[in-house]
Amino acid sequence: METILFLAHTEADGTLGKAALEALGAAVELNQALNGTLLAATFGTQAKAAAGSIASCGAQRFLAVEGDEFSQPRYATDAAACEALVRTAGATIVIAAATSRTSRVLAGVAQRVQGCVDTHVTGIAAAAGPVTVTRWFYRQRIEGSLTRSHRPWILLLDPGAHAAWQGAAGSATTEVVDVPLPDTLRRTTVRGIVTPPADQQTIRPDADLLFVAGAGWTKKQKDGQTHVPEAETIILDFLRESKASLGGSKSLVDLSGENQAALPFMGHLNQVGQTGASPRHPKGLSTCCHGEEPHTVGWRFIAERRAINLDPNCGWARGKADVLYVADAFEVMTKVNELLATK
Ligand SMILES: Cc1cc2nc3c(=O)[nH]c(=O)nc-3n(C[C@H](O)[C@H](O)[C@H](O)COP(=O)(O)OP(=O)(O)OC[C@H]3O[C@@H](n4cnc5c(N)ncnc54)[C@H](O)[C@@H]3O)c2cc1C
Repeated sequence: METILFLAHTEADGTLGKAALEALGAAVELNQALNGTLLAATFGTQAKAAAGSIASCGAQRFLAVEGDEFSQPRYATDAAACEALVRTAGATIVIAAATSRTSRVLAGVAQRVQGCVDTHVTGIAAAAGPVTVTRWFYRQRIEGSLTRSHRPWILLLDPGAHAAWQGAAGSATTEVVDVPLPDTLRRTTVRGIVTPPADQQTIRPDADLLFVAGAGWTKKQKDGQTHVPEAETIILDFLRESKASLGGSKSLVDLSGENQAALPFMGHLNQVGQTGASPRHPKGLSTCCHGEEPHTVGWRFIAERRAINLDPNCGWARGKADVLYVADAFEVMTKVNELLATK
């Protein structure tokens, strides 16, 4: 019988993040399919209190590691906490969200507990036989499914791949797991986190809409001139009004990197595609971007795709978009911004 451990760190405010609740949803579902034993383990700021927020998830035991030394995302202490939790639980399968914090430590933890690990998991099922996980290979072009007999088996579930667990909070009897902290685990000091101000943060994984800008925004327009400052204003106005996430084509982000006339807020982290990201927003709107295959590979998980392009023969027109507006994106987005401003 499998012992399934849901493993999560708390956020800075002591809550469990959306990605963690998605991993919990997958763990609960797998446990129901296997009729196994479910345990829940949390570490970080107020980890014990966080267990209460998932008290009704069906876990038979709640484990926690907390204390100041575990509140910061530091490899040595995070790995020690996870190792202790996996060992205490006697877990055969560990399911965690693929956050930056868990992704950094769980391969190392698998090594310490003589287990194995699979990352970028997008599905976990056990309906017809052994536990099977799915993940994508070759930049989201090939979907593979695999099983393993080795245990413990640690699975890092990609955010956005499973519905988040929902249930009532309550009081959970939480066992606090003691983790020895020799000086060797405390050599690294986390000085703080540097992030752009919220209004300059253009990558928003939880946004309903992904707005993608292509190199066309920087190209000569019908008057024979480029209009990069106008493009910048239109795009930033739209992002501010719509709270959409910003993606970019490779051509556009490369222009920014080469200090050509380009959009200063567009960097390589915004790039969508085969060599970029594969975001998971419900809707996507592509503007001034041709929709070539290596670009649209990154749209694999976008449910509804729309594009605005002057060219009726662009890649989007050839079956890659649900709706193509053959129109000038400068004009369309200016009108959209006017409408948003009146809302
Ligand atoms: C191995 C490999 C990997 C790659 N990986 C990626 C990747 O990860 N991501 C990626 O994006 N690309 C990738 N590429 C590059 C990709 O093939 C394209 O070259 C790139 O995406 C083109 O970017 P673009 O559409 O912004 O620019 P362009 O091809 O220059 O297209 C600009 C578009 O803007 C339109 N336009 C201009 N003005 C307007 C206007 N006023 N209104 C509306 N439309 C307008 C034009 O009609 C044109 O279609 C990869 C290529 C290779 C070979």
